[in-house]
Amino acid sequence: MLKRNNREQLISEFVVNLLISFGENTSREGLVGTPHRVFGMYEELLGGYSQDPDSVFKTFKNNGYQDLVTLTNIDFYSFCEHHLIPFFGKIHIGYVPNGKILGLSKFARLTEILSHRLQTQENLTNQIVNTLEKHLQPRGLIVSIEAEHLCISMRGVKKSDCLTKTTAVRGILKNKTGLVNRFYREIGRNGKSSRVIR
Ligand SMILES: [Zn+2]
Repeated sequence: MLKRNNREQLISEFVVNLLISFGENTSREGLVGTPHRVFGMYEELLGGYSQDPDSVFKTFKNNGYQDLVTLTNIDFYSFCEHHLIPFFGKIHIGYVPNGKILGLSKFARLTEILSHRLQTQENLTNQIVNTLEKHLQPRGLIVSIEAEHLCISMRGVKKSDCLTKTTAVRGILKNKTGLVNRFYREIGRNGKSSRVIR
């Protein structure tokens, strides 16, 4: 990754070139600070590149809880790596702990780090599930994401009500349909329309 002032220079030049190529006057009042503002925005929105997902895993010993833990409706905003515009929605996580549990706020922290990078929804789903599996070694794990992609809803077919759903399943949840159905009831949706990544 480049140093901050090199990033600022390249991103500012890119924004100036974008404005010029559409015939804009880069010195008019509304645009004069735009290259700097856009740089500052991307520093925040792509800040996940400078953060380590492994750093959130301060785990606790599990004192015998052996059932499903579900976290619903974790908001996320990410960037489609194909078009560099946002996709955003809700992440739902369910796991059956083994020896370790994770503080509940850390799930949101993990999803924030991974979503503040250029992503596809499929890769974001897999990265969350793989990182949780690596650190928690749960007996079962399911990660489900539903998202609106601005590259679909702002252009072309303009289907603003189109949601993309991805689901990744690990461990005993691959076979325990009762627990998986409970997860879907708890997140308030019917899993049948999902794309399942294994
Ligand atoms: Zn896209």
